[in-house]
Amino acid sequence: MSDKTYLDWPFFEPDHAALEQALDEWASREISQQHASDVDQACRTLVRQLGDAGWLAHAIAEREYGAAGERIDTRAICLIRETLARHNGLADFAFAMQGLGSGAICLHGSAAQRAAYLPRVARGEAIAAFALSEPQAGSDVAAMQCAAVRDGDDYVLDGEKTWISNGGIADFYVVFARTGEQPGARGISAFIVDAGTPGFEIAERIDVIAPHPLARLRFNGCRIPASQRIGEAGQGFKVAMATLDVFRTSVASAALGFARRALDEAMQRATARQMFGQVLADFQLTQAKLAQMATGIDAAALLTYRAAWLRDQGRNVTKEAAMAKLTATETAQQVIDAALQMFGGLGVVSEQPVERLYREIRALRIYEGASEVQQLIIAREMLRAAKNGEV
Ligand SMILES: Cc1cc2nc3c(=O)[nH]c(=O)nc-3n(C[C@H](O)[C@H](O)[C@H](O)COP(=O)(O)OP(=O)(O)OC[C@H]3O[C@@H](n4cnc5c(N)ncnc54)[C@H](O)[C@@H]3O)c2cc1C
Repeated sequence: MSDKTYLDWPFFEPDHAALEQALDEWASREISQQHASDVDQACRTLVRQLGDAGWLAHAIAEREYGAAGERIDTRAICLIRETLARHNGLADFAFAMQGLGSGAICLHGSAAQRAAYLPRVARGEAIAAFALSEPQAGSDVAAMQCAAVRDGDDYVLDGEKTWISNGGIADFYVVFARTGEQPGARGISAFIVDAGTPGFEIAERIDVIAPHPLARLRFNGCRIPASQRIGEAGQGFKVAMATLDVFRTSVASAALGFARRALDEAMQRATARQMFGQVLADFQLTQAKLAQMATGIDAAALLTYRAAWLRDQGRNVTKEAAMAKLTATETAQQVIDAALQMFGGLGVVSEQPVERLYREIRALRIYEGASEVQQLIIAREMLRAAKNGEV
């Protein structure tokens, strides 16, 4: 049983603790024991379940589109991701992608775009994807080559995107492409591309360490109406970064969920496993490990919920979100590794909880900005503030 005392921290409103409790009960009942042999089908089912139960209403904003509130509640998103991750990594993935995939529409879409997509996202009827990365433009997003050329009332897209979560099962993709208003990051725009649009195809499905739908996308003369552009031409990079400012913090919370589950598993194992005439937890070496795991989790949680709280106050959180993601994902990796070690041979048996967590956590240190990129963001923000005399 996880320690829930963090819900009393001043970052939260009473509604947040109630939300966490209700979701925890729901997840224990509905999704904890699910094992996915067909990952596409499992994801579709989870999106439906999350929509039917009302959880996806927290992934978007504005009540008229089916949201739980008028604005994105970053703390609610983080608590939901943390709780789902503790129960089932694929459920966290399904929830997160509905938010990440529709975040640009939510934050910068026109009223018509919001009305057309957000209610279906919230009900779990339309699956969303976020297509930014390319084979030659991962960490270096501004190097993207996928191009969108204006042709009358349309844009024509040509190029590739890769590592796209929900690729192959999504109903629509928010695609970032070069429109060339200015060089580099200032010449990118965001578009909504519906699955099945002629000229758009899934070039390749990609299998990864912790299976979830993932694909490389190809655009070949893919024509979409200019009304599918999100925000102003040339503002796509800003749209992407605003979306990531919300969801980067939520990656930290997912890592926290994995880490908390690993600590729960480790505590149970350490207090039950007999050896040398006592239990594993009686050894001070084990106690040191448990203490380090718990301290790391609390430190990561403080950074995560500070970033979420700050964003909900309308503050810029570029640095704080990067600190949260860096610390929570790196800490979770260490916590899970320590937990697996306590399980001995059992820790590496396929589909044991700690073995699954060991695979689940790895990609979080890479996507939505690798740890090294988060370090650069933190330092850049510090140096910028110092130069501007803000500190
Ligand atoms: C499971 C998974 C799901 C993903 N889902 C999506 C998605 O839905 N949508 C999407 O658009 N993208 C997605 N991605 C892509 C992800 O965001 C990129 O993989 C990530 O940005 C890194 O890009 P890259 O893989 O090209 O690695 P590279 O850019 O080649 O970086 C490789 C490594 O270089 C190091 N590095 C990078 N920059 C620096 C630096 N300045 N100094 C020192 N070292 C550095 C880091 O260790 C980094 O991990 C996903 C990736 C994975 C693994």
